[in-house]
Amino acid sequence: MESATSTKPHLVLFPWTGTISHVIPMTDLACLLASHGADVTIVTTPVNAAIAQGRVDRFTAEPAHAAAGITVTAIPFPGADAGLPEGCERLDLIRSPDDVPRFFAANKAHGEAVARHCLRLRLRDAPRRPPSCVISGMCQTWALGVARDLGVPCYVFHGFGAFAMLCIERLYEHRPHEAAASPDECFDVPDLPPPLVCRGLTSRQLPPHFMPPASVGGKALQGMREFDRAADGVVVNTFEELERGSAALLAEATGKKVVAVGSVALCRSPGLDTPQSMSDDARRCMAWLDGKEPRSVVYVSFGSAGRMPPAQLMQLGMALVSCASPVLWIIKGADSLPGDVKEWLRDNTDGDGVASSKCLVVRGWAPQVAILAHPAVGGFMTHCGWGSTLEAVAAGVPMATWPFFAEQFINERLVVDVLGIGVSVGVTKPTENVFTAANAADGGEAEAVAEVVGMEQVKKALEALMDHGPEGEERRKKAQELKLKAKGALEEGGSSYNNLENLIQSFA
Ligand code: UDP
Repeated sequence: MESATSTKPHLVLFPWTGTISHVIPMTDLACLLASHGADVTIVTTPVNAAIAQGRVDRFTAEPAHAAAGITVTAIPFPGADAGLPEGCERLDLIRSPDDVPRFFAANKAHGEAVARHCLRLRLRDAPRRPPSCVISGMCQTWALGVARDLGVPCYVFHGFGAFAMLCIERLYEHRPHEAAASPDECFDVPDLPPPLVCRGLTSRQLPPHFMPPASVGGKALQGMREFDRAADGVVVNTFEELERGSAALLAEATGKKVVAVGSVALCRSPGLDTPQSMSDDARRCMAWLDGKEPRSVVYVSFGSAGRMPPAQLMQLGMALVSCASPVLWIIKGADSLPGDVKEWLRDNTDGDGVASSKCLVVRGWAPQVAILAHPAVGGFMTHCGWGSTLEAVAAGVPMATWPFFAEQFINERLVVDVLGIGVSVGVTKPTENVFTAANAADGGEAEAVAEVVGMEQVKKALEALMDHGPEGEERRKKAQELKLKAKGALEEGGSSYNNLENLIQSFA
């Protein structure tokens, strides 16, 4: 019979609700923590809880994880009180840029409801122990108050890699962007020891941390920076061997414990990785890949919400249909494309997934981890979101880098210049995003400046990515080496394995 109170540490996770790409890795983190013997509670909004619960169910369906102690708790999101429509619980679900400040207001109120829930959790959650630690997404700044009320440490999970966070610290410290004469003047991130290097950034390419303080993003980020400084440590989805000492340097720069626990996507079998893993789209992707030669396919996807302006999408599309390799292209927001672009897609690509087609377009949710693990995939054109970057690393797939915004331009430098597993498409300006749109709506200047990367430039990057000459082979070799290291990090005795053990032990 189970004793009245478990002896296991009990970790409470608050994923940042704004994007699915935070809910996914934090749920995977919960699975990893549980597989190392912790009890875990994920507290989030109902829409995100459904996604988290689906992933947890697929994890615990694997016999090795049947006993994992993970609870997903949904606390209603007070979006309607802030003027948001029903069910609008993530930034990709908002209707207009005006909803961005409303979303942050609702997030704050949600935090107050979560705090009340967690205090009750302390009083009556038997047979579990009361919470031992809080791990929170970076925008859930209210988590610090919850942790302090519970009398437990508060760790932050940014969803960024250690190198990007280290560069952000160096930028805060040295502020090279302030000396730049224009938003397009290049500067290097100072004080990075070799082999780390981050050259030729521009102010336009910086993460929202460096937006003007009065902008919509800037206002939200001030609180996040204070939260960051006050938190007790940082949990990072990475493995120590990958980012060449960045985690240790970040710990030194921030004076905080930095715990590398990834790649968290490796916690499960690749076939079980998506919210809709049995969807028609998922099946269509996998069946199409099954008919292709090993390492012949370019997989093109720009994250959970990445959308391009129609003119850019056309240039990309023309490059994809004319390149020699078969292409699996995931398009988000396809329904809102202008009629002529839809028509072009219908005429030039195959949306229905005929097995023989050369360019398969999928408009829904793709099973990315399973796709990257498929032997037919030889290259990945990515926006360099950290989740996608790390998933490509864990699968040993080289990348063509097309950063959109946030810290993605820094991730590009890591992939191309530090790790040598990527080819840069050569994008210089960010794509419009929620913050630039919200600032424009707020009467400020939109920061995104239209840049259309031409078809020939895209084609050149694709050819280099799929090239079988010495440079292409060298990238492939390095990517395969990192794949093995990623796997080793989570095996017994590996760096992430040990870090997870030590983290949990510290609450025993
Ligand atoms: N993803 C997926 N299928 C899709 C689009 C995205 O599985 O069709 C997953 C992807 O595997 C990754 C996350 O969504 O885990 C995207 O995270 P990332 O940090 O790369 O980008 P973001 O969505 O934050 O821009």
